[in-house]
Amino acid sequence: LFVDHPLAAGQPVPLTQDQAHYLFGVMRLGPGAAVLLFNGRDGEWRAVVAEAGKRGGMLVCETQTAPLCPPPDLWLLFAPIKKARTDFIVEKATEMGVARIMPVQTQHTNADRIRQDRLQAHAMEAAEQCGATAVPEVADLAPLDRVLATWPAERRLMWADEALAGRPFAQTGDIAGAGGSSALTGDIAGGQRGDPSGLTSGFGEPRGPWAVLIGPEGGFSAPEQARLRAMPQIVPVRLGPRILRADTAAVAALTLWQMTLGD
Ligand code: SAM
Repeated sequence: LFVDHPLAAGQPVPLTQDQAHYLFGVMRLGPGAAVLLFNGRDGEWRAVVAEAGKRGGMLVCETQTAPLCPPPDLWLLFAPIKKARTDFIVEKATEMGVARIMPVQTQHTNADRIRQDRLQAHAMEAAEQCGATAVPEVADLAPLDRVLATWPAERRLMWADEALAGRPFAQTGDIAGAGGSSALTGDIAGGQRGDPSGLTSGFGEPRGPWAVLIGPEGGFSAPEQARLRAMPQIVPVRLGPRILRADTAAVAALTLWQMTLGD
């Protein structure tokens, strides 16, 4: 259970009404029952029910059962799609381990606002479900242009570029940069560009930090593609020959990152 409260041996942890309803009403727990808690900072702790009531309750921390295991320093940028599928992307990104989830507005993005608090709660529920000890930060919706204008120089951007899907892999060449050989297992299409920054010299060196970018149902516009291709940190990625739905592409790209560059 996620609690926004410090966790330490002997620490009393007051419960909200919702948490009390879940533990005592839905799970039917009572005094003395054990509960595993995490707060995203102190790892996972075993606590016992000290007081159980309809409107609240109290747990007392006993022992730490797992240290904090922060997710990799990986960001997922994606263009929001329909609500249920956006929820799906947030849930799968949390399960697969990302530090930050950044909804971005692109020219063809249908959504012009998101419920950031609802998506953050969804990430928390996904973390509870998969036993994570940290919850990714879900940012509010921001224009892709603004995000790219302040892009950190050291962070490489794996861009799922659907324009590469139609081309046979052989034509797209290997990874970007000075002859770096692709160490990735997926179809990787590097930009056919030099690499003055050295940032994309071969995927083989998983020098991070990294981010993954997934576009909207309507794909990236031509100006967006040109802007992305001009970024020294960019690494265009082909996720196979077919056009995937955005939620499928998010899972595929995160899997590719995890299998090849994840620590
Ligand atoms: N026009 C298509 C459509 O309407 O479905 C393309 C959009 S596609 C669903 C959404 C995003 O998934 C794309 O912008 C891209 O980031 C990613 N994507 C889908 N298939 C891909 C592929 N084969 N290679 C690379 N990226 C892909």
